[in-house]
Amino acid sequence: MADEKFLTYDVVVVGAGNAALCAGISAKENGSKVLILEKGPIQKRGGNSFFTDGAIRTAYRDLEELREVLPGITDEEAARIYMPVYNEEDYYNDLMRVTEGKSDPQLAKQLVSQSMKVIKWLYENGVIFELNENQSFEKDGKTHFWGGLPLKTKNKGVGLVAQLNERVAELGIDVWYESRAIKLEMENHQVTAIQIEQPEGIVTVRTGSVILACGGFEANQTMRSEHLGSQWDAAIVRGSEYNTGDGLKIALEAGAQAYGDWSGCHSIGTDLNAPKVGDFTKPGDIFKKSSFPLGLIFNNEGNRFVDEGADFRNYTYAKYGREVLKQPGHMAYQIFDAQVHPMLRKEYFLEEATFFKADSLEQLADLIKIDKEQFLQTIEAYNQAVQEGDYNPTVKDGKGTKGITPPKSNWALRMDQGPFYAFPVTCGITFTFGGVHVNPTGEVLDKEGAPISGLYAAGEMVGGLFYENYPGGSGLMSGAVFGKFAGASASRYVRGKTKDIVNQ
Ligand SMILES: Cc1cc2nc3c(=O)[nH]c(=O)nc-3n(C[C@H](O)[C@H](O)[C@H](O)COP(=O)(O)OP(=O)(O)OC[C@H]3O[C@@H](n4cnc5c(N)ncnc54)[C@H](O)[C@@H]3O)c2cc1C
Repeated sequence: MADEKFLTYDVVVVGAGNAALCAGISAKENGSKVLILEKGPIQKRGGNSFFTDGAIRTAYRDLEELREVLPGITDEEAARIYMPVYNEEDYYNDLMRVTEGKSDPQLAKQLVSQSMKVIKWLYENGVIFELNENQSFEKDGKTHFWGGLPLKTKNKGVGLVAQLNERVAELGIDVWYESRAIKLEMENHQVTAIQIEQPEGIVTVRTGSVILACGGFEANQTMRSEHLGSQWDAAIVRGSEYNTGDGLKIALEAGAQAYGDWSGCHSIGTDLNAPKVGDFTKPGDIFKKSSFPLGLIFNNEGNRFVDEGADFRNYTYAKYGREVLKQPGHMAYQIFDAQVHPMLRKEYFLEEATFFKADSLEQLADLIKIDKEQFLQTIEAYNQAVQEGDYNPTVKDGKGTKGITPPKSNWALRMDQGPFYAFPVTCGITFTFGGVHVNPTGEVLDKEGAPISGLYAAGEMVGGLFYENYPGGSGLMSGAVFGKFAGASASRYVRGKTKDIVNQ
């Protein structure tokens, strides 16, 4: 235990989302006295993690390994599940494929190789998992999972945050709300204290180490314009209003190396009428619209602009938000016909979903604000371009189009069976990709690549993992892996430091 006269807290964790809570629990498990700081009030705790669907991407051997954290699945139920293998190599290859080979190999390897171990650690710490049925189709009497994402946390992000907070309370970790970290104090290139802004004023807490896990800059309009481009003013913020880049500024000021894709972000097509910033009374990712591979996407000029069937939605949804942002009015329509409508994800059937329905495509075009003639022409050309083949939404079926741009590479069915549906979407920013450079144990590196003594980072603040695109479910996994490692490293560091002080 640290020398109380020297350190008020061994480890101060900034943020109270998934990464921070994991870091706090891990630091406490490793014997440290821990303080967690959260900028928002208690009723708005949990950050972006609170808004998630709870989908979490892990490598796994087989269904039997998953059942170690899903004890409720009976042998009978297991016999009706088809669970394709998704090993570390599969996860690593997916990450590299969608990031165009740019993901930092050391960090990517750490994420992938630790994923299942950390899932089991979360489970031991009270996190309840369930099967992610959004990632499955019924076929031949069996539930077929696909896309490497069969796990989610019970009751989505709300459940995850509640369960982690329960564990934090059980362990007796202090949490201060309405406490915004603003600056680190350093002596001899080591972290010695942190300044915190509270409603009553500024307080300084002395500490041996700080773990910054306080998100990216997606909710900061000025930083969005500066780094992503001016059109990003128009994006809806899908998650927490508090992720305004504070931690990044604090770290850079302390000499951290900026790292990763600062001009990139995760963004999706979200309901045109979603709140402009995440509403803590409406969590659970209810506004997203992720079934676009089953249909077609049009801008209001009546043209398609992406290959809706390029890949499973997990591997394209995170980059199609910015394509929607580029369209006139920063909006688009997802169009489906009666053949695929029953297969749409649950969010399409919620009362919050905005949609239009008509018996014919002509009538549908009259209901929405679209260039009708062009819309009907584009559909006609698409229908003629659809190739024969076996339609199968559980695999990349190769049933595509020929001779049109953009193509639809998989799951191309003629759009010809009414009634027809139009779901208007706009661009919702999820999180930013740029961060600071950390090593695999979460130590923040300076511009020369050396660790800054006592400074750690986790979660969205870690740069270098995601570029261009992102394999769905990796945000929570990255937060948990790097949070757990940062907590353990910070504790080890403080223990070593305390020993030095005692021995002086
Ligand atoms: C709608 C939505 C759905 C998503 N769905 C999924 C999903 O299903 N699976 C998945 O893997 N990922 C998903 N994501 C992405 C995922 O939320 C993030 O990758 C992950 O939660 C980030 O965790 P974090 O702990 O780094 O940040 P957060 O959970 O955002 O936590 C950061 C915390 O830091 C606090 N903070 C900010 N500044 C300060 C400061 N100066 N001082 C103190 N506290 C501060 C914030 O208030 C916040 O509580 C989704 C995101 C959104 C918005």
